[in-house]
Amino acid sequence: MYERVDLDAIDLGMGPPSLEPQRQYYFMAKLRKTVDQEKKRLGRPLTACVVTFGCQMNARESEKLSGILQMTGFELSEQENSDFVIYNTCTVRDNANQKVYGRLGVLNGYKKKNPNMKIALCGCMTQEETVIAKLKESYPFVDLIFGTHNLYAFAELVYRTYHEKHMLIEVWKESDRIVEDLPVLRKYPFKSGINIMFGCNNFCSYCIVPYVRGRERSREPKEILREIERLVQDGVVEIMLLGQNVNSYGKNLEDGITFAQLLREVEKIEGLQRIRFMTSHPKDLSDELIQVMKESKKICKHLHLPLQSGSDRILKAMNRRYTKESYIALAEKIRREIPEIAITTDIIVGFPGETAEDVEDTIDVIRRVQYDNAFTFVYSKRTGTPAAAMEQVPEEQVREGFDKVLKCVQETARMRVQRYQGQIQEALVEEVNDGSNSEEALRELNATEGQVLLTGRLSNNTIVHFPGLPGQVGTIVRVRLEECRGFYYLGRMEDPLEGTKEKGVLN
Ligand code: SF4
Repeated sequence: MYERVDLDAIDLGMGPPSLEPQRQYYFMAKLRKTVDQEKKRLGRPLTACVVTFGCQMNARESEKLSGILQMTGFELSEQENSDFVIYNTCTVRDNANQKVYGRLGVLNGYKKKNPNMKIALCGCMTQEETVIAKLKESYPFVDLIFGTHNLYAFAELVYRTYHEKHMLIEVWKESDRIVEDLPVLRKYPFKSGINIMFGCNNFCSYCIVPYVRGRERSREPKEILREIERLVQDGVVEIMLLGQNVNSYGKNLEDGITFAQLLREVEKIEGLQRIRFMTSHPKDLSDELIQVMKESKKICKHLHLPLQSGSDRILKAMNRRYTKESYIALAEKIRREIPEIAITTDIIVGFPGETAEDVEDTIDVIRRVQYDNAFTFVYSKRTGTPAAAMEQVPEEQVREGFDKVLKCVQETARMRVQRYQGQIQEALVEEVNDGSNSEEALRELNATEGQVLLTGRLSNNTIVHFPGLPGQVGTIVRVRLEECRGFYYLGRMEDPLEGTKEKGVLN
């Protein structure tokens, strides 16, 4: 809808509507006037910078913030000395907060040089009362603070920031409201994340998310499908459905749709070529979902299935609600049904009470499941979660356990990735790789004149670098996987001109 909204046609004499998103469009029109006045006063464009910390959910929400800033006349920039700077924060670890406090100090220096500057903070960190108290006391130069539940009201809040000369704090504890049809500025033209739900009900004992993002709320399937259809019309070929636990999608909706059923509907969208999703809680992964993945032509052959620990005792203390053996049985079932699937995971080492024996249990799961990749983290105490009050493991013991787990992950993942050697697979070309080793790789791959090093992603999420043309970014091409370099491949396109004609790169 937002592409069709004409801000000039909005009657500003009528007062703000109470309905959303109409109310936000009203404030976008007003904000745009304010931005125009500021531009005239300063005799230059008004710049804005959105800085994202944390996960894919935050990245997607930052695209919404950027969309509103662009629509209201700001010139987007990556410079943190812009006229309007917003930090979209993460609070998963205590040190994530410290990082933000440190960077706020730098912003204050910029603001002293540019008194027109506005500083805003949103995201998970601002949902915590202790954070708000600290900001009020020690960071009075921050102009706007809002939380995860009223992000949709960004235009209204920015407008007020320019007209109310005090620190504006609007943080809601809870909300079941989901506002559709607000502007979005996508980072990639050919792929996009889509929030299908917000919040989490699981309360894993180490995780702050349920406290700062609230209870699970699913978007209506028709809104999700409409958004994807529009994205496809706009050139998107790959989507990533996002939620803290996508497997419980639909539980709060009246028609009782499941995540698997939603996927079946998404699959029907013509022009859409690839579907990804994350994150999947093992306790809620259904047979129906495995079946849908097996039958699908579009769902990528990749499943991220967080393990966290292989010890039943630790899993219980984490409140994960599955056991070592039930997890392994699930992974085996998935591999039996979809043999070519890549399974990746998250592992925490050093959770309170973890012993060397518990770490051995985790290593046993890694050996038995044979992950294609695993993100291994040292447990980080998060104030405000139940685990923070438990007895912590000595640092040296954690380090020892971590090194063992990492070594095992690297060995097994390397073997898994090697099995694609020599295969021809489809890759979505994501970008031109102009990193320091690209020249060398191009020489090794006997690239022809005009070719650059492209980076593509296989359906199973493995990265491949190969020579090609910049115009092939955003297309799906077939690549022969020639040389495995640990976790990625060097390859060669089967048809070097694939995708270019459809894109009008060659005539
Ligand atoms: S499922 Fe657990 S780890 Fe994931 S967001 Fe919810 S509480 Fe946090």
